[in-house]
Amino acid sequence: MRPPVCGICDHDLEEKEGGVIYFKKRFSDKVWDRTMKRIHGTGNPPNAEWFCNKHYTRAKELQELTIDKAMALMREEEQK
Ligand SMILES: [Zn+2]
Repeated sequence: MRPPVCGICDHDLEEKEGGVIYFKKRFSDKVWDRTMKRIHGTGNPPNAEWFCNKHYTRAKELQELTIDKAMALMREEEQK
């Protein structure tokens, strides 16, 4: 995993702060899964993102969306 930083506000996450949300997989995310299985690789899944306590709840509500849509929506809301 990457060092935990909130995907919305870039806040560095302390231990036990916030968490990872796994969004609905896009076609490209499924391809990534299969590739990783084939090469026995590991890494940060492209459909997963870290969130701070402030943004975690909203991200959880949006986890049925794909990551690109959810992130676009949250960034938009953040600017209001
Ligand atoms: Zn945040």
